[in-house]
Amino acid sequence: MGHTGSDMEVQFLPGVGPKRAELLRKELGVSTVGELLRLYPFRYIDRSSFVRIADARPDMAYIQIRAKVMRAEIIDRKRLSVWISDGSGEMETVFFKGIRWMTEKLKPGAEFVFFGKPASFNGRINMVHPEVDPTPADNTASAGGSMTGVYPSTEKLKNAGITGKVMNRIMEAALERGLQAEKETMPEHLIRQYGLVPLHFAIRNIHFPRDLNALEKSRYRLKFEELFFLQLSLLKQRYVRSRSAQGIPMPRVGDAFNKCYEALPFPLTGAQKRVITEIRNDMKSGHQMNRLLQGDVGSGKTMVAVLTALIAIGNGFQACIMAPTEVLAQQHYKNIQKFLAPTGVRSALLTGSTKMSERREIHSGLEDGSIGIIVGTHALIEDNVIFRNLGLAIIDEQHRFGVEQRSRLWRKASCGAPPHVLVMTATPIPRTLAMTLYGDLDVSVIDELPPGRKPVQTIHATEGKRPALYKFMKDQIALGRQIFVVYPLINETEKLDYQSLEAGAEDIMSKFPFPDYKTAVVHGKQLNDVKKFNMDAFAAGRADILVATSVIEVGVDVPNASVMVIESAERFGLSQLHQLRGRVGRGSEKSYCVLMTGHRLSKESKHRIELMCATENGFELAEEDMKMRGPGDLEGTQQSGLPITLNIASLAKDGIILNTARDCADAVLKEDPTLGLLKNAQLREELSKGKYQIKDYSKIS
Ligand code: ADP
Ligand code: MG
Repeated sequence: MGHTGSDMEVQFLPGVGPKRAELLRKELGVSTVGELLRLYPFRYIDRSSFVRIADARPDMAYIQIRAKVMRAEIIDRKRLSVWISDGSGEMETVFFKGIRWMTEKLKPGAEFVFFGKPASFNGRINMVHPEVDPTPADNTASAGGSMTGVYPSTEKLKNAGITGKVMNRIMEAALERGLQAEKETMPEHLIRQYGLVPLHFAIRNIHFPRDLNALEKSRYRLKFEELFFLQLSLLKQRYVRSRSAQGIPMPRVGDAFNKCYEALPFPLTGAQKRVITEIRNDMKSGHQMNRLLQGDVGSGKTMVAVLTALIAIGNGFQACIMAPTEVLAQQHYKNIQKFLAPTGVRSALLTGSTKMSERREIHSGLEDGSIGIIVGTHALIEDNVIFRNLGLAIIDEQHRFGVEQRSRLWRKASCGAPPHVLVMTATPIPRTLAMTLYGDLDVSVIDELPPGRKPVQTIHATEGKRPALYKFMKDQIALGRQIFVVYPLINETEKLDYQSLEAGAEDIMSKFPFPDYKTAVVHGKQLNDVKKFNMDAFAAGRADILVATSVIEVGVDVPNASVMVIESAERFGLSQLHQLRGRVGRGSEKSYCVLMTGHRLSKESKHRIELMCATENGFELAEEDMKMRGPGDLEGTQQSGLPITLNIASLAKDGIILNTARDCADAVLKEDPTLGLLKNAQLREELSKGKYQIKDYSKIS
């Protein structure tokens, strides 16, 4: 590691030294000056204007107020309360430390600049521990370079004396010593075409903005750069793959497909047809298909999966359909039987609970090729499962499979080329997230529900409405309908959650007494046999009410169920609520979703519940969910995590920049797929640093 330029270690910066350098590395992951320069402020303190007390709001960031001290009072010997006034109103400022010193400084009648974060306390606005500075000589706020960057910090950094001010000074030194060595990453032609500011300007102004305009331009440039390289890296992988001939050509549609198609009890929706055409084109292309199929619950993905599998069969290959849970695998298996019947294709189900004797038979059927379609869980990827010629893998609910598990499946390909891959997900993913998570996959969306679906009416209710709810449930049962009652189950509160489920089930059984009413209870602690027995009872209509934990989220299709009651609905995320609601409204009857919550809801919970009542569009809800919680917490990404951490751009907020950056990356690669042109040399170099590599979801290893 050199001692000059952007590779210079931060310890050699004035004011840092080995001890602080070690802390910066541990706490912020910064070792070199180049890395330090890429550590951007997460917000800015605006010292350029004063806020009037009357205008101060608790949701404001740091503000400064120019005001006179009215009175100061020590309360309980612990807390100094100082009332200030600027003519527009009065505000309390509070100090817990340095009380004696502050009392001396803040004499009634004296004027100061108070700088701090307004907060709401007992329904009033106050500021706790504001910075107190003398008023400027002229009447203006401090001029020029008035915005100060605020950097991520930790307790340890603060204890080591690396305060905000010190951080600003370190950054100043870093700019002085290291900025010249930072190489421009964007080629001249793109800088011009997209109106970007140069890298040096951007880095200087992201740390020390000359003015708001310079800051905006700098942020845009850095966000663009980040999203652009990410997309460039993803799209390049896709270009490389689409040019390599590795893929099983499947030119025929085949008899099985046609027989199934002709026997369908309903016409396919336009969206289903479009998606099947897209898949068909992939499979006959001679390249490996890597396609993500998104479609809301009930949009008819199973149908598409079956027809896709039959294309593989028609070309002499086997297909597997992999589901994340046993219940879901069983359901898939059951669902596809009626479609497979007219084709004569042999299928089988392989899960953890498949009996040994049966298992042996399935293994040999897969090995000799007599089984065409195998449906199953992780059991499918065990080493002793050998296919004669696996040509297609369909993976349902992709996020529940790890990358490693998927690659084990690919290794089962025995015919030289990797199997085609179709990943299906019912968790609508916001477009920006899909472009990033699955940027190298082709995406198909079923954006149309089969005809005849009635909208699900969603109602919010609190405890006081429970008698009315039970009455409503009884009316529905009298009409012959069935009802889900779902309780949250969250790891951290598991014990309490089971208690509330049990209490809830007891309450229902006492209000809906046997034998007039039949209630089944299903949860994760039950033995598999018990779970299956109860689930089957409900699915077959032998039980009127199913009380369950959120495990049913990914399971059971019961068209006769018309009511979904979600208990403690405020504890579920939007995507999850939407998934649960998708369990009803599958039949021809009008359906309802009742969201039971406590009386007092946080602002966010209230917003979620309102959105649920207002829309049934999964994509809209997913977008909102991402805005509220950030992409990292989104349903569907929790287990795998986001494959990359963005430094400055936000998938939730920078969709427009992302689109532009994506188009730009696409145009560059169209002209120059290998980035071999001289004018793109910087791009090649930047990509080769590996910064923008993301976990590759479609990787064949
Ligand atoms: P998903 O897997 O996308 O949640 P499914 O494939 O389970 O949805 O389909 C939901 C229901 O809609 C099933 O009962 C299925 O038979 C039915 N269905 C699928 N496609 C159509 C269609 N084109 N017209 C009418 N009903 C359909
Ligand atoms: Mg399905």
